[in-house]
Amino acid sequence: MQTTEREIVGKENLNPFEIVQKQIDAAASLLGLPSTAVEILKHPKRVVCVSFPVKMDDGSVRVFEGYRSQHNDAIGPTKGGIRFHPDVTLDEVKALSMWMTFKCGVVGLPYGGGKGGVICDPHDFSKGELERISRGFMEAIADIVGPDKDIPAPDVYTTPQIMGWMMDTFSRLKGAYSPGVITGKPLIIGGSKGRSEATAQGCVFTILEALKELGRKPEETTVAIQGFGNAGRISAKLLAELGFAIVAVSDSRGGIYDPNGLDVEKVGQLKDTGSIQDYENGKKISNAELLELDVDILIPAALENVITAANAERVRAKVIAEAANGPTTPDADVILRKNGVLVIPDILANAGGVTVSYFEWVQNLMHHYWSEAEVNEKLQTAMVEAYAAVRTLAEKYGVDMRTGAYMVSLLRITQAMEARGWI
Ligand code: GLU
Repeated sequence: MQTTEREIVGKENLNPFEIVQKQIDAAASLLGLPSTAVEILKHPKRVVCVSFPVKMDDGSVRVFEGYRSQHNDAIGPTKGGIRFHPDVTLDEVKALSMWMTFKCGVVGLPYGGGKGGVICDPHDFSKGELERISRGFMEAIADIVGPDKDIPAPDVYTTPQIMGWMMDTFSRLKGAYSPGVITGKPLIIGGSKGRSEATAQGCVFTILEALKELGRKPEETTVAIQGFGNAGRISAKLLAELGFAIVAVSDSRGGIYDPNGLDVEKVGQLKDTGSIQDYENGKKISNAELLELDVDILIPAALENVITAANAERVRAKVIAEAANGPTTPDADVILRKNGVLVIPDILANAGGVTVSYFEWVQNLMHHYWSEAEVNEKLQTAMVEAYAAVRTLAEKYGVDMRTGAYMVSLLRITQAMEARGWI
């Protein structure tokens, strides 16, 4: 009997927390890691759920719910963004904090993973309301974050301005100027040059490494990007500058496709003033259609679970560079590998963001700031070395890049847990 697509989807577990546990198991069993190490890593060390009241512009009060998950601090303080999104769940935040641990491990940063989320849609609020939500959340988690404890940063729908408000609230509560409590801040209050572009820039560096493997040139390579926020939009710009043809982009409302290449600057202007679907020469497409386009490189740059057992078979890209966290499910990974698709996993492909966050934190602690060229050079070195380390282990064990990336990380973290006497 033939299995229908619906049945496969029905069977697939899309819970991100259980997905990351599965990913850990897959890599840990190949490495033969002690079961205690695996057990520790399958759960966050601390998860805090908060609710906090915020005054709205009309005088009413709304209560918001948020989470902060701190996964593992064997190598250093926990680190990771805060997202504002209506679909945030506790399991999602836990999973995202775990992915942060492994992401920091891939690059060799002296951090463990953390993540936060507030259930809200920032598009619904005035600037003043957004400021009060940001300050309210920071106040609610102020006791558990700090430059030596847990260092937040931007994530989906949060911005440098929001980081600035949060840093201010924390500094006021502690009675001391504390730029190192959060990264991704505006430059004037201790942000790092290159931080806004860092996730995209890091992703581009990994794509260039993959192209070397495939013996291809940017000018002969087409790209489709799902998501037009910080990572997607800046990836489009940087790749276009390098000569890649960006043939499709989308945001949450849908996308546009022109096989001859889009004018990325024009698309950016449309995003700022109306809708990217107003683009004149493009064909309007859905997000689902974008993922299945006949392109060389596909960059999922939005949310989790967009490439699943339901559509992986129809993905035609040769390379997937995961600028988003958790865009591909384990079942989809199996299908993509069978079809020879090279997946540059999230914990490697989007590690540029946290890498430059680390540089920002170091600069804050030193009170000494680097030029953009210095930041980008250090970022390039970090990304190229991380890519090579992942590639080496993936080849040694005959596994995909995701499993290889977990292996690089797991070896480091386990060593740290051993050195601290945890296992
Ligand atoms: N939110 C980003 C990520 O998922 C950046 C985290 C950071 O800079 O700490 O990697």
